[in-house]
Amino acid sequence: MDLQSGKFYWPTTITNKPTYPPLEEDVSCDVLIIGGGSSGAQCAYYLSQDNLNVVVVDKREIGLGSTSTNTALIQYSGDKMFFELAQTFGEDRATRHLKLCEQAINEIEKAAKELPLDCHFTRRDSLYFASSLEDIEKIDREYNLLKKHDFNVVYFDENKVKKHYPFYAPAAIYSLNDAELNPLAFTYGLLEKAESNGVRVYSNTEVSKKKIAPDFVQFVTKEQKTIKAKHVIIAAGYEGLEFKKEKNADITSSYAIISNPVEEFWYNRTLIWETDRPYFYMRTTHDNRIIFGGLDESTSFVDRRDSMLLHKRDQLVKEFNKFFPNIHFKPEFYLAAFYGGTHDGMPILGLYDDHPNCYFLYGYGDNGTVYNMVLAKIIRDLIVQGANPNLDLYIQTRSLR
Ligand SMILES: Cc1cc2nc3c(=O)[nH]c(=O)nc-3n(C[C@H](O)[C@H](O)[C@H](O)COP(=O)(O)OP(=O)(O)OC[C@H]3O[C@@H](n4cnc5c(N)ncnc54)[C@H](O)[C@@H]3O)c2cc1C
Repeated sequence: MDLQSGKFYWPTTITNKPTYPPLEEDVSCDVLIIGGGSSGAQCAYYLSQDNLNVVVVDKREIGLGSTSTNTALIQYSGDKMFFELAQTFGEDRATRHLKLCEQAINEIEKAAKELPLDCHFTRRDSLYFASSLEDIEKIDREYNLLKKHDFNVVYFDENKVKKHYPFYAPAAIYSLNDAELNPLAFTYGLLEKAESNGVRVYSNTEVSKKKIAPDFVQFVTKEQKTIKAKHVIIAAGYEGLEFKKEKNADITSSYAIISNPVEEFWYNRTLIWETDRPYFYMRTTHDNRIIFGGLDESTSFVDRRDSMLLHKRDQLVKEFNKFFPNIHFKPEFYLAAFYGGTHDGMPILGLYDDHPNCYFLYGYGDNGTVYNMVLAKIIRDLIVQGANPNLDLYIQTRSLR
């Protein structure tokens, strides 16, 4: 899959890019992780704490899949609003999911602090605003449900928004304690940490064939080296769908721009997004840039996605200036990327009868980094302990309300 194109920002932030060799011999392991992006690294991080023999392979250089274009707003509230998830899955399950995401941000913070590399994890508040008068009702419902379940949120009416931001919004939810990070540095840091605990990492190693037996799974690389594993985690991002189609998953195209370093920001450098779908979103970076994204398209065709890139870049600058006319936004970096979501708004952990001992990690959705942390922990428990009490939320066969 041609995941993305443009001029990417995160790779330019890494001064000593780690290098990993290709696999040049047959190997056996307890766990094979296919994918050295952030989701594979998150799995490796957890599993490396458990005295298991773990191998990570990636067909590209490590981290150069969607992880390189992840804008990395780290939030628990997602594309499908809490009250909508409660309608689909019931309030108890929706609440459990949101609480797991909130905990996952704490886990990301804990991991980030332990890493040998600074991934600039920074706590930030979020502003989620109503894009129109009609959406005030959505904001009200969302706020009431969040408050009922003790999430740390504050209601902003029109005046309160006006006090802190130069743009108009008729209502908003101000959430405390979300976060931002550098997703590529996070991935490199997690893998370095996992490697120091014995995990073996190979780049430029494409897994192309497999044999499934009752007690092991065998993958073969393009160079005909075999990897025999007791368990296999398919953490191949949106390319996981090339291993196994999942009908609940949906691929679209997304666009984002990253500015020159600027001197002026907005209130608390909040993560900002809105109720419109598709929505605009923004955050700042450690080196004082602004990331602004949106104008998503429903296409999953590369040519169509990329043909719009330069136009989208220019449009996004104009849209940003509607929010902040006084900030001069020069788009030094810009990208078009495939972007995966799910129809029901929850990430998926695929466990299929025809793939015994395989765990398909489809952490799809706007909070992919957070979902990946939740799913990585569940997969670790399934492998190490045989069970996890939250599997019912994410397994592809989950029931709706
Ligand atoms: C534009 C954009 C903005 C986003 N914004 C956010 C955000 O603000 N917050 C958030 O939390 N999430 C966001 N996401 C989602 C986030 O990027 C993803 O959830 C996350 O990066 C996916 O990581 P991954 O490791 O699953 O995928 P990838 O980084 O794509 O890693 C998968 C790896 O698997 C490898 N692979 C695939 N097939 C094979 C094979 N056959 N053999 C060997 N290796 C293989 C690939 O080479 C790749 O490196 C965004 C995504 C995009 C595209």
